[in-house]
This record gives sequence, structure tokens and C-alpha cells, in this order.
Amino acid sequence: MTSITHLTVEDIRFPTSRSLDGSDAMNAAPDYSATYVTLHTDAGLKGNGLTFTIGRGNELCVKAVESLAYLVEGETLETITADMGSFWRRITTSDSQLRWTGPEKGVIHLATAAIVNALWDLWAKSEGKPVWKLLVDMSPEQLVKSLDFRFVSDVLTPQEALGLLKRQAAGRDAREAELREHGYPGYTTSAGWLGYPDDKVRRLAREALAEGWTHFKQKVGGDLEEDRRRAQILREEIGWDRALMMDANQMWDVDEAIANMRQLAEFDPLWIEEPTSPDDILGHAEIRHRLGSIGVATGEHCHNRVMFKQLLQAEAIDYCQLDAARLGGLNEVIVVLLMAAKYGVPVCPHAGGVGLCEYVQHVSMFDYIAVSGSLEGRILEYVDHLHEHFEHPVVIRKGHYQVPTAPGYSITLKADSLAEHTYPNGPAWQTH
Ligand SMILES: [Mg+2]
Repeated sequence: MTSITHLTVEDIRFPTSRSLDGSDAMNAAPDYSATYVTLHTDAGLKGNGLTFTIGRGNELCVKAVESLAYLVEGETLETITADMGSFWRRITTSDSQLRWTGPEKGVIHLATAAIVNALWDLWAKSEGKPVWKLLVDMSPEQLVKSLDFRFVSDVLTPQEALGLLKRQAAGRDAREAELREHGYPGYTTSAGWLGYPDDKVRRLAREALAEGWTHFKQKVGGDLEEDRRRAQILREEIGWDRALMMDANQMWDVDEAIANMRQLAEFDPLWIEEPTSPDDILGHAEIRHRLGSIGVATGEHCHNRVMFKQLLQAEAIDYCQLDAARLGGLNEVIVVLLMAAKYGVPVCPHAGGVGLCEYVQHVSMFDYIAVSGSLEGRILEYVDHLHEHFEHPVVIRKGHYQVPTAPGYSITLKADSLAEHTYPNGPAWQTH
């Protein structure tokens, strides 16, 4: 038995606002940050998980993790993993006073994600496998037992989930071999940040082209003429055979989104991402219905499986952009993967930030091998920031994520990076 003796949590912040990396219309100057959890065990093994924030407020997530810690401390890894679905129900609902602060949304759910993902990291490390492989090697019955179908059983029962997983049993080995050889296709957001000057956008687009990227995303939602100019620059650089996506980061009202995207349609965007409030399910449906040929994508601020259920039921999205740390950890992510597979909506997870690329490569590879069985319409976000701080960072070749091989969820940060970026006393924060 491996006993989880205690949990520690750290407030880690990277001063990305100094170079406007990650800037968009809603988030002008983010400092990419992690609420970083370590589960300590009596076996010496450690599990890590993080939730992502953009600076101030990270201390709220740290406090929420501290409040939830008692639900995992003193437990054994074997007891939790024998019935992960029950554990997930317990950490999200058993303390009704903490649940009141959500439920299953906001700070408390971000904190839940950090702890739950740390458990998956610990489990995978104890098995000597990367998380995607741990999932792929689980039987459909074991996988389904790790999920909580509460509030979504009207569209997905455990029996249906079993059927979806068994449907993909044939061909799993071939898909795994294919990923090991070619990797998983990605797209880059690195050239299109709103705060970058034109010459930097042009230079980064050229560099990305040379690296083999075929899909590019730009931020929109500022001044419409500037959005047009930057789209023009990107089209000049990438041509018309490659895909251009646009991301408004929730800036517009519904009618405004439709009007603005009609203006930007001449640049042939594949999708408009987060055109309006992330909570407006019927608004997204309206935009999708009225825009026609431009896809609607959302999900990085969609806080739980219930909202994704409704986005799918309302036929509001063409692309499901779940976030590995916004949902309550991997268990809830898998429920959303299964619902999206049932509705035939491709999952293109949100990534970037700090650690999100490291997380979602496991999610998308598992999705391809065991859940959707398809790469059609699926492409995984990539942002070229902060990977150097991880012990096992993502590896990209020719615009493709290479299969992670190190045991765990790829989310363990280097000790010296942690020391440097501890907020507020780390050296990185002493120059300001
Ligand atoms: Mg986005």
C-alpha cells in the first residue's frame, strides 16, 4: 500500500506580462501562474498536479487546495484508484460547506483539478507509465468505473460509455503505433498574440511555417480594423492552403460577434473561438446557426461536464475545447471526451498557459486511440512558452506533438524553476 502522507501546495508565477506573451483582447497582461500541488507518500513517490491562473488570484486557488487537502491526506493510492469514480464524487461533493462555494465551478473546481490530476500523475508514476498509456491499457470497465456520470446520465449512461469504448477496441494498437511514429497534429497560437507588433507577428509566422506548422491562430476582439490588418499579414505569410483560426476571448455580445465575424469572413477562418460569454450556451448556438460556414469553438472557460452536455445538446459548437485544469481533473475530462464522441464533435483541447500543453497531449492521444478513433477535425493547441521549466516538457516535431514516454502526467516542474518563481519571494519577483 502507498499511503498519501500529506499534500503541499505552492504559489508559482512567471512574469510573462513583461513581454505581453499570452496577451489577448480580454487578458491584456497575464502572468502565467500555477497552483502547484505535490502529494507526498510513504513510498517516497510524489504526485504532481497544477491548476493554471494568470497571476493575481493564484493565492485563492492555493487556499482552496489547502481546504480540500484533508480529503486526500491519509488515504492510500490503492483505495482511491480501486474506485476513482467514488473518490471523485467524494472530493467534489462530500464536504457540502466547500461545495457551496461552487458547486463544480470557479476557484474550488480549479483547486479540485490540481489535486485530482496529481493523483493521476502519482498513479501513472507508480505504474511506470505516462498517463495516456495508463488510460489506454485500462479495460473499458475499469475506465468507466473511474468516472462520475451524475447530472449527465440523460445523455450518457455508464453502459453507453462502455459501448463507445468497446467500439474502438479494434484498431487501438494500430492507432497507438501511428502516434508513436508520426505524433499528434498541433496548431500554433504563438504568432498571433494581440500585444505583438506587426513585424513580430510576421517574423513569428515565418518561423512557424519553417518549423512545419500548417494551422495558425490569431487573437481578435480588439479594434476590428487591427484584427483585419493582422489577419491580412497572417494570410500573406501562410497563404490560403493553410488554416487560420480566430480567438475573441469572450469580447463580444452575440449580435456583435456575428457582425464582426461577417467582416472577418473574407480571411476564411476555420473557427471563431470564444466569441461571447463562456456561459452563454444558447448564444453560441445562435452564433453558430447564423454564421453558417465559420465553425464555433469554445470550452476553455467551460467549467464542468454539465455545461458541455448542454453545448452539445444545443448544437452550439463545432469544436470542443475542454481544459485539463478547468474541469475537475482527468476524470471529468474523460466524461466530456465520451459525450463529444457520442455527438460526433471533435475535441481540440485548450492549451498554452503553463503546463496545459503538457497535460492535454495525454488527453488527445487517449482520445484518438481509445475514444474517438479519429483525427478528423482534431488539432491540438500549442504555445511556445515556459516548457523549459518542466522535467519532461512536450516535444514537437514538424507541427506534431510527439508521444510522451516518461511516467506520469508530464507536469512535474524542475526544483530550481520552482525556487526561482515562488511568489512573492522568489528571485524572479525581486526585480519588480
Ligand atoms: Mg482561447
